[in-house]
Amino acid sequence: MTSTAVTWSRRTDSSAVSANSLGPVGDAGTDTFDEEVERFFAALPAVLDAAGPSGLARARAWRRALFDAGLAGFGIPEEYGGRSDPADGARRLQRLARGRVPAEESTFGIGLNMAVPTMLQYGSAELCRRFVPPALRGDEVWCQLYSEPGAGSDLPSLTTRAVLDGDEWVVNGQKVWTSGAHHSDLGILLARTGDAPGKAGISMMVMPMHQPGVDVRPLRQMTGHAEFNEVFFTDARVPRDWVVGEVNDGWRAATQLLAHERSSLGAGSDDGERKAAGSAALPVHFLLSLAARTGATDDPHIRQELARAHTGEMIMTWLSKRRGIHPSIGKLWRTKQARHAASVAAAMHPAMIAFEADDDTEFWQYHVLNAPRMSLGGGTDEIQKNTIGERALGLPREPGQA
Ligand SMILES: Cc1cc2nc3c(=O)[nH]c(=O)nc-3n(C[C@H](O)[C@H](O)[C@H](O)COP(=O)(O)OP(=O)(O)OC[C@H]3O[C@@H](n4cnc5c(N)ncnc54)[C@H](O)[C@@H]3O)c2cc1C
Repeated sequence: MTSTAVTWSRRTDSSAVSANSLGPVGDAGTDTFDEEVERFFAALPAVLDAAGPSGLARARAWRRALFDAGLAGFGIPEEYGGRSDPADGARRLQRLARGRVPAEESTFGIGLNMAVPTMLQYGSAELCRRFVPPALRGDEVWCQLYSEPGAGSDLPSLTTRAVLDGDEWVVNGQKVWTSGAHHSDLGILLARTGDAPGKAGISMMVMPMHQPGVDVRPLRQMTGHAEFNEVFFTDARVPRDWVVGEVNDGWRAATQLLAHERSSLGAGSDDGERKAAGSAALPVHFLLSLAARTGATDDPHIRQELARAHTGEMIMTWLSKRRGIHPSIGKLWRTKQARHAASVAAAMHPAMIAFEADDDTEFWQYHVLNAPRMSLGGGTDEIQKNTIGERALGLPREPGQA
């Protein structure tokens, strides 16, 4: 999964307003839903400015304001902090929010797009009451504790172990590539609880990250940022009831979470702010502005590549609108688009690869150096192709797979 500190736009409004001052949508009585959403977004810049420069503080302020306005959880039961009215609220909000969602929303990607939907499907009502509202409100940030040094694509070979000790699970082992663990409050953990090898005997549970038994060590990437971590567990504790689904039967929930991850990674969006966050393809309109600035619009090769990038972006958008296609297809296309868009940017602006960049160059440099990671996070390109072959096309399973 992904997160980043780099944003494209700079904030300008500095007036101080608290998140609560936005008030719940619907307060004004006669206002329509759309008007209330408009009012929410009109007040949002001041809320973000009041949060200060820290990305995490801005992320939390955004989410808190959205929740307080009653806009945070369409389709989620009201008892867990969600909302069902209006019935088409999610779609209307998405349309109105286009281009206005702060890049910091990506801080909550794992919690909102992966942990919460899996919790709603497999978790007890008690767990949903405990974990869903704070996730919607941005009070608790989640990370995904799946991959290990010896278990990436071959996830069922994971060896982190949880042993029951009275009312707690005691966890020992190591995870790696854990995006955002350094600012996470909770982790969705896969650990071995049974003696059977492979998929049997794995449980999914919620790991509280702030405790002495959890050691988070950042990994620095070639971008210069440290967005991933190694996470070491030494007698880390998890409450006995914080198991999502049944003990020793966590694999079904685990694969469902991966499907949610692929869907969210594959979902196209024309929200320029979010694409600017570095975890998605560079938008073509950014490439066009770079071409205009560098004079590359006269270069026939670049013109051709810009046209290809435009076509790829359109396909990405159309794929995201299709219902019922396998999530790996969108994920694979989006990755391809991100790599291509980054290579076009690099061709127009070769100096960006050198470090000691100014603010603007750093933006491009970050995206170019960051794009290859999309071929790995959420499952590699090869694994997506295997999955499409087996699950969408019905081809025989690869040898050696149960
Ligand atoms: C940006 C990013 C974010 C990540 N975030 C998280 C996170 O938050 N939490 C988390 O748990 N993990 C995270 N990961 C880890 C990610 O899920 C793994 O890197 C990925 O599953 C691949 O595992 P691996 O790195 O061990 O590579 P390996 O599985 O060792 O694969 C090595 C190579 O072999 C190929 N390969 C392996 N098996 C097969 C096969 N059966 N058929 C064909 N080719 C195969 C792969 O495609 C790859 O090219 C993240 C990774 C990245 C890059």
